[in-house]
Amino acid sequence: MAKYIFVTGGVTSSLGKGIIASALAKLLQSRGLKVTIQKFDPYINVDPGTLNPYEHGECYVTEDGAETDLDLGHYERFLNAATSQGNNVTTGRIYQTVINKEREGAYLGKTVQIIPHITDEIKRRVSLLKEEEDYDIIITEIGGTVGDIESLPYLEALRQMRREYGRENCLVIHLTLIPYLSAAKELKTKPTQHSVKELLQTGIQPDILVCRCERPITKEIREKLSLFCNVDVNSVIEAIDAETIYDVPLLMLKEKLDKTVLKKLKIKNKVTPDLVAWKEFLGRLKNPTREVKIALVGKYNELQDAYKSIHESFVHAGAENECKVIIVPIHSEALQNSEVEKSLKNMDGVLVAPGFGERGIEGKLEAIRYVRENNIPFFGICLGMQCAVVEYFRNVLGVKDAASTEVNPKTKSPVIDLMMDQKSISKKGGTMRLGAYKCKLQRGSLSYKAYGSADISERHRHRYEFNNAYLDQLKSSDLKPVGINPDNKLVEVVELKGHPYFLGVQYHPELKSTVESPHPLFVSFVKAASDYKMSK
Ligand code: GLN
Repeated sequence: MAKYIFVTGGVTSSLGKGIIASALAKLLQSRGLKVTIQKFDPYINVDPGTLNPYEHGECYVTEDGAETDLDLGHYERFLNAATSQGNNVTTGRIYQTVINKEREGAYLGKTVQIIPHITDEIKRRVSLLKEEEDYDIIITEIGGTVGDIESLPYLEALRQMRREYGRENCLVIHLTLIPYLSAAKELKTKPTQHSVKELLQTGIQPDILVCRCERPITKEIREKLSLFCNVDVNSVIEAIDAETIYDVPLLMLKEKLDKTVLKKLKIKNKVTPDLVAWKEFLGRLKNPTREVKIALVGKYNELQDAYKSIHESFVHAGAENECKVIIVPIHSEALQNSEVEKSLKNMDGVLVAPGFGERGIEGKLEAIRYVRENNIPFFGICLGMQCAVVEYFRNVLGVKDAASTEVNPKTKSPVIDLMMDQKSISKKGGTMRLGAYKCKLQRGSLSYKAYGSADISERHRHRYEFNNAYLDQLKSSDLKPVGINPDNKLVEVVELKGHPYFLGVQYHPELKSTVESPHPLFVSFVKAASDYKMSK
């Protein structure tokens, strides 16, 4: 039987439940246990695929094509293991399942209610993961903050699970904030006392408190929290602000979070956590020998979370190269003619980000023209690759009205066009081309050298593609299609001959970069940027 750990949040949002869950999972994994993490999101959208990045940050895509919360990216980056559809469940999905069952007559004669029908469906979603794989421990992060109306059914399902399985099989970690009042020069425990009370009202006594704080919590504070919140004093865990999220597993190790969890779950495990690779990564991350500046040209730059996986991929690739990567966000809408040179001339590399719609496209095209003409390393992802194709057809091959039909539906030269199987789709939500597809790389290409293999598989999230009606023209130009999907012949990778590093990919490499296996294309791009800087 699997053991269950639930992570709830108190006092405020954005405390980093995902990071704490990932750090704990990492420690348990490093002791030889098989662990996975699941996220419950309390909103009504069936998945976050229909949410604007401004609302909810990046939409993360799994191997099996689920559009999910960005916390799943953290789970994968920490655990170096893939997640799937079952790892992210929303209230929308829960209700959709129950309502569909009701229409099918599954509850015939019964009144369908939050308790037991919605809570049963929540509990089923927790145990579904166990059917997928033989996990020792399933960690479930409950989105939102205790006290929200939206979280109530999840907390009720959790209460029921603890009643059914017992507390030694079903543990609750409450992540909370201990604010520091500078006027009083004191850390304050009252908000936590209130949020634990709130949790108690739903019938749940937390087993462990993880306390986010800017300053170390003293023995007195620990004792006070223990007394008022009814937890063991050694179950009060300090989670002090860290220099990087990747320090958190080691901070949690120091606070013995893993040991406390194992003891409470009555799991016998005498293994010393094997964190050698993790510590080596941290060593490289913190002792860079070089530094590069990379422009991230996108339109959601106001919000760092919108490009979360790209930022993290640069952290991994930077460490691999012992190179500090400074990411300079550049808003594509601000890139007008004279601005382009001013913004990009001091960059060692330029990444043009994924995106949707027409806003900011011209700035992206201008940025690409500039880096192409000035031999600055370029990496285009998804929309970034599509823009590279459009720019090349317009400015090098002289096809003046070349465009993507996403931007100009009436163009006579649709070098990027809606995929065939997308033409009949009008519904939004899970209808893009999603998840892992194969790609075959041409031997000798930059990407082939980076991967060290011709056969790769990468994750996708798009509706438009390179229009193969222009394939001959592309092949006879210097912008070479060097990566092709072997099944449907879709162009996946383009590279510019004669340029030191000019690479566009239709897929999303950033979704597969982890601490323990940094993505080869990010690693090679950072290296190219560093070489370029040296050559300047
Ligand atoms: N908007 C483009 C498409 O749908 C690119 C998508 C993306 O960058 N993820 O094909």
